[in-house]
Amino acid sequence: MPKLCEEDRARAVLILDKLRLDLHEACAGNEEILFSMKRYIAKRLEFDERGTPTQRRKLKEQKMKTQNGLCAVCNSRLPDHGAELDRFHALRGYTIENTQLLCPTCHRSTQQARDALSIHTQLSGGIQRP
Ligand SMILES: [Zn+2]
Repeated sequence: MPKLCEEDRARAVLILDKLRLDLHEACAGNEEILFSMKRYIAKRLEFDERGTPTQRRKLKEQKMKTQNGLCAVCNSRLPDHGAELDRFHALRGYTIENTQLLCPTCHRSTQQARDALSIHTQLSGGIQRP
């Protein structure tokens, strides 16, 4: 995943500053409402990226059926609890096409391999921005 350049980070900080001002104005000094609104907004932003827990649980159930209860990498029987949804491309979200269900061991090794590739890509000049 490409890192934000200084200009992008500066724009993000401006958006955050504006949001904070809007929140303070909307809450009119009520600290409890401010706290709850910040939490609500943070959750909604997380759902934008990851979907809701219910959506991910349903996707997991679908994947469990289509993969016949087997890990997509090592073909071992997936545990009832602890199977992990793995995104091929984080940016494309949790969709049928962009995910596979893995056993915890394969999920860990897949993540480590991606992290290593990401570090290698960054060290060798990074991803070209459009
Ligand atoms: Zn596995």
